[in-house]
Amino acid sequence: MSVWDSVTLSTRFRAMPEVFYTPVEPQPLLNVGWVAWNAELARQFDLPAQPNDELLQALSGQAMPEAFAPLAMKYAGHQFGVYNPDLGDGRGLLLAEMRSRQGEVFDIHLKGAGLTPYSRMGDGRAVLRSSIREYLCSEAMAGLGIATTRALALMHSDTPVYREKQERGALLVRVAQSHIRFGHFEYFFYTGQHEELRLLADKVIEWYFPHCADEADPYAALFNQVVDHTAQMIAQWQAVGFAHGVMNTDNMSILGQTFDYGPFAFLDDYQSDFICNHSDYQGRYAFDQQPRVALWNLSALAQALSPLVERSDLEAALSAYETQLNGHFSALMRAKLGLNRRLENDGALFDDMFGLLEKHKVDYTRFMRQLSELDRDAQQAVLDLFIDREAAQTWLQRYLSRCEQELDAVGQPLSSGERCSAMRRVNPKYILRNYLAQLAIDKAEQGDFSEVHRLAEILKTPFEDQPQYEDYARLPPEWGKKLEISCSS
Ligand code: AMP
Ligand code: MG
Repeated sequence: MSVWDSVTLSTRFRAMPEVFYTPVEPQPLLNVGWVAWNAELARQFDLPAQPNDELLQALSGQAMPEAFAPLAMKYAGHQFGVYNPDLGDGRGLLLAEMRSRQGEVFDIHLKGAGLTPYSRMGDGRAVLRSSIREYLCSEAMAGLGIATTRALALMHSDTPVYREKQERGALLVRVAQSHIRFGHFEYFFYTGQHEELRLLADKVIEWYFPHCADEADPYAALFNQVVDHTAQMIAQWQAVGFAHGVMNTDNMSILGQTFDYGPFAFLDDYQSDFICNHSDYQGRYAFDQQPRVALWNLSALAQALSPLVERSDLEAALSAYETQLNGHFSALMRAKLGLNRRLENDGALFDDMFGLLEKHKVDYTRFMRQLSELDRDAQQAVLDLFIDREAAQTWLQRYLSRCEQELDAVGQPLSSGERCSAMRRVNPKYILRNYLAQLAIDKAEQGDFSEVHRLAEILKTPFEDQPQYEDYARLPPEWGKKLEISCSS
């Protein structure tokens, strides 16, 4: 009996014309072994909770079931604002498509699988360091309730891979409803393959946005959906303090899910113009640029959809983006601060809070969580995050008087206990700080994967107090704030 007997596979992308991809077999790595297996995600596909050798053989591409039909997708995209026609899966493959228990089809994508026709100058490999970062961050984002690709498994190997130094090759099994990027549409647009462009849009509607088919103009409806999903995702990034680092259009999922984790970072100290990507000299993808860059990327997608959608419809969708983003962001920030009513001076209260955090270099996550603890801890615990406690005190008093104007369901003043317990459900105690990821990587490079497992476990429930893991909620050490993460992964 094979583990794959209970799994239902699909071949819907494989059934697309071959201009969409090239069939490619994975190139095996030496001495592959497990780093991590996501039992919870595995269960959604009726895969075993415990990984075994058959799974290792199949997912590492050494002995795949016959029904797997691996392929490298072709796409293009704008990288740092410049169009690159030559992109595609350069080191990843769509290994198979698999149906979940709920009947939805998911891609099983193997990252680090070897050379493809789209590898350009690359070696087709992924190193352990960056694969651990993607594994942990996609699971952390899922725990935070932010739309994301998922990670089913992570494998190490003895194959040497050369980056700034010699490292070892790893394989990440990524699971997502789709690996279709904005760049897929750009490829067919810029090569003048408009029938294929239409087919791609038809399939995206059929597979992911079936309700758009009932609209007067399904393609315009599709673009509206992409704009809205993207605005939601960006609002969540900004509210949680997540910087993606490489928002090229080939890293933008058509579903508005966080996609392709590279030099990302969660803010430690609140710094609006924080640049997490060491190779981003101009700060194009700085934290506070993300809302604008997403709009730029959506405009690039609009251009690619111009053979299918009226210009005025594309423009209308793009001009709705800012309002949608602000709406989502302000709802998220209100929830984080425990403020349900909309009162006149709230905008100034929010702005002053961000200004205060920025000026005094205060840890964003700790600050928000500490505000959520005001029913259990003294105000002093918030003030202690600041060197200039007086400045903090002034804002805190304003905030607390504002909280007194909140009402419960029957119109009575909302108790601080009720307010704070709701706030604790949206202000994470645990995030994947760069230094925590780095400690897990350092151990893993010595063959000890326990810290990867522990972090994955903690980050599954980031809003819950986990008393045995208090240390993981502490402020980062100074060295941990200065880690430089480059694109070379
Ligand atoms: P990224 O910025 O990581 O999303 O990568 C941009 C493009 O470069 C994608 O098409 C990747 O498939 C490709 N790529 C990145 N790293 C490698 C590598 N080591 N070997 C081959 N292709 C790569
Ligand atoms: Mg990419």
